Amino acid sequence: MGKKIIVTGGAGFIASHVADAYVAAGHRVAVIDNLATGFRRNVNPKAKFYKADIRDLTLMERIMKKERPEVVNHHAAIAEVVKSIANPLPTYEVNVLGTANVLVAFGKYGRGADRRFIFSSTGGAIYGEPKKIPADERTPRTPLSPYGLSKALGEDVIRFYAKQYGFAPVIFRYPNVYGPRQNPKGEAGVIAIFGGLLKSGKRPTIFGDGTKARDYTYVGDLVRANLAALTKGDGQTLNLGWGIVVTDQMIFDEVARAIGFRGKPKYAPYRKGEVYRIALDARKAKRFLGWTPRVKLRTGIRQAIAGIRPER
Ligand code: NAD
Repeated sequence: MGKKIIVTGGAGFIASHVADAYVAAGHRVAVIDNLATGFRRNVNPKAKFYKADIRDLTLMERIMKKERPEVVNHHAAIAEVVKSIANPLPTYEVNVLGTANVLVAFGKYGRGADRRFIFSSTGGAIYGEPKKIPADERTPRTPLSPYGLSKALGEDVIRFYAKQYGFAPVIFRYPNVYGPRQNPKGEAGVIAIFGGLLKSGKRPTIFGDGTKARDYTYVGDLVRANLAALTKGDGQTLNLGWGIVVTDQMIFDEVARAIGFRGKPKYAPYRKGEVYRIALDARKAKRFLGWTPRVKLRTGIRQAIAGIRPER
């Protein structure tokens, strides 16, 4: 029969892939998304779709009462670091208060003995500039941006309500995720952005000197972790990622090579609030979920940029 699962943010980049995998595994999926940055075309045709805003508690309760899910996989968020610095309140409203609404509604109307709440936190923005790289889950949470803070607060709200209502939380701290459907017009997602610009014959900008570095992990690998979390990882906070830093310059070179671009990028000053160097130690995810990443950067980049259309 499969499980009844609500995927919030399922019209967006990562959660649309997660919803696809849940549907393919035989689960019954309903997507909640207000299409702020997501697209209706990303929603799996076999999933039910609610165009709804998680800031609306009454609406969340109505949907949960109707669906009676066993699992909520919560990805809906404002996921932009620079925007959160310029204008923090909307990020808190969606990522903290919206998360609380989803939790309260699920607490009241979720169904079954094995209710679980899977959450997409951030490993890239929650640890600030860690002393040790790769950073493990015991690294102190010292975010540098309201976005990172909103995710730390989201984790705390989840732990609170999981206890109140007696369901299992699984908290993922994601690395920099990339892959098909990532928006090339977004603020993050440098592979999609570089791919979009280079395919349109434009030179991308690197903020800083190219040495800023991240842990890039392919979306399909993240999807496998979200599948595993349907039955494993109860109560755990788990980093995901390769544990390897890849610089902006390396990403530019790799995307340029895949597209056949021979020019150079532009360089601009660093943007405030962005972490300089981070990679995540995901050995705990291996222990609890049996998860390790598989898709190598070169293969992943080619898959990620294949579907990007040049701008006219
Ligand atoms: P995305 O913007 O593609 O997806 C977010 C989705 O949430 C969108 O479809 C958007 O329309 C929806 N949404 C936003 N506000 C909403 C609201 N008020 N009500 C209902 N829906 C709303 O971004 P993504 O990259 O797929 O990120 C998904 C999740 O993963 C986010 O929670 C993000 O913080 C987290 N995450 C992403 C990365 C990454 O590298 N992309 C890294 C760490 C964590």
